Amino acid sequence: MQDELRKRDFEVNWHPYTQMQQATDIIPIVRGEGSYIFDANGKRYIDAVSSWWVTLHGHAHPYIAKKMSEQLNTLEHVIFAGFTHKPAIELSESLLALLPNNQKKVFYTDNGSTAIEVALKMCIQYGYHLQSNKKKILAFKNGYHGDTFGAMSVSGRGIWTDPFGELLFDVEFIDAPTQDNLAETKKFISQHADEILCFIYEPLVQGAGGMLMHKATDLDELLSCAKQNDILLIQDEIFVGFGRTGKLFAANHLQTKADVMCFSKGLTGGTLPLGVTTCSQQIYDAFYSEDSTKALFHGHSFTASPLACTAALASLDLLLMDETQQNIQRIVNLHADFMSKISKHPKIKTVRQQGTIFALEWKTSEETSYFSDMHQLLYPKFLEKGILMRPLGNIIYLVPPYCTSTEDLNYIYETILLFLEEL
Ligand SMILES: *Cc1c(COP(=O)(O)O)cnc(C)c1O
Repeated sequence: MQDELRKRDFEVNWHPYTQMQQATDIIPIVRGEGSYIFDANGKRYIDAVSSWWVTLHGHAHPYIAKKMSEQLNTLEHVIFAGFTHKPAIELSESLLALLPNNQKKVFYTDNGSTAIEVALKMCIQYGYHLQSNKKKILAFKNGYHGDTFGAMSVSGRGIWTDPFGELLFDVEFIDAPTQDNLAETKKFISQHADEILCFIYEPLVQGAGGMLMHKATDLDELLSCAKQNDILLIQDEIFVGFGRTGKLFAANHLQTKADVMCFSKGLTGGTLPLGVTTCSQQIYDAFYSEDSTKALFHGHSFTASPLACTAALASLDLLLMDETQQNIQRIVNLHADFMSKISKHPKIKTVRQQGTIFALEWKTSEETSYFSDMHQLLYPKFLEKGILMRPLGNIIYLVPPYCTSTEDLNYIYETILLFLEEL
């Protein structure tokens, strides 16, 4: 069955971030349960990356399934312009209660990239309504905010944006903060304060850029400088939100409050696509008017899907349970132990951790790169061992669902150690 499905897939499907000519190894998955997925031959894989960093509580969670099934039989969908529904109201109430208290309104979309588009459009149209002369957007080098055009524009540029380069709008890129560069970056921000409208950043961990990490205190210093210079802050918590950093949100590590925040990925526990952009009263008020042309002109057919909102509410219920919070701390501690055990390993360049996110850079003869051959070498070897990992070039990382057992995590650590010795 495995080969048959693979062959049929190859005939009709075009996969994301995949050179199809090399894609001879695509694995048909038939079932998921907890931290495992099962292929058509019945082989089990530990999902060490939560699929694409989305699965919080494991696959096919019965509680989420039950809630969604009830919703599916009640109201599967309704237009969100002119109409509303309880799942969207309850989810917004629950989310806002957990976020920094300056977040007042929730705007729904379908995924992370569109949550970013909305955040950018909110800030740009805010500037437009205020007839501001500030037009520039600030972003981190090596950032990743999604694959639509606005999101690509504010992301780090590379081989994957080259074909579209001329169509992407200009952005000022600054270094993620370190003690060494903070003073200079702050000076740059102050000098250009009257041109810069907003600053978009992944807080604490730059995910797709290579699980790059910076200190909360350093980021705070940068954010407070931007705030003092009247620059709007867009905090992209699409990857780091919902417990990944060891706290509920990256915001819980920071003093400075963002004006706009973006969520997706773990929002529904990884069950359905859903995006959320939240904002402060100040942003909202700039649109609130007798003038109907001051509305935020954005929307999607499936905005605020009742089914997706229900999945998100169920996922939040699970996330806030003591058991889940203890699991998060258990993973944080296990990662920390493993990190101290291997930090001196001769084949490791660096090793780092932020909460449940763990990453190590394998020493190679070449520079650290997304296109490093290490991916080609390591990815199938981990699969052979029944572990789903997707190295970013020579960077191996773990982003496990919170239900992953200590036994399975130890097995993953041992396998990493084994490959470090063997290869
Ligand atoms: C994945 C990701 C996005 C884009 O989300 P999609 O749902 O894949 O469009 C944006 N920002 C960050 C930080 C991400 O990790």
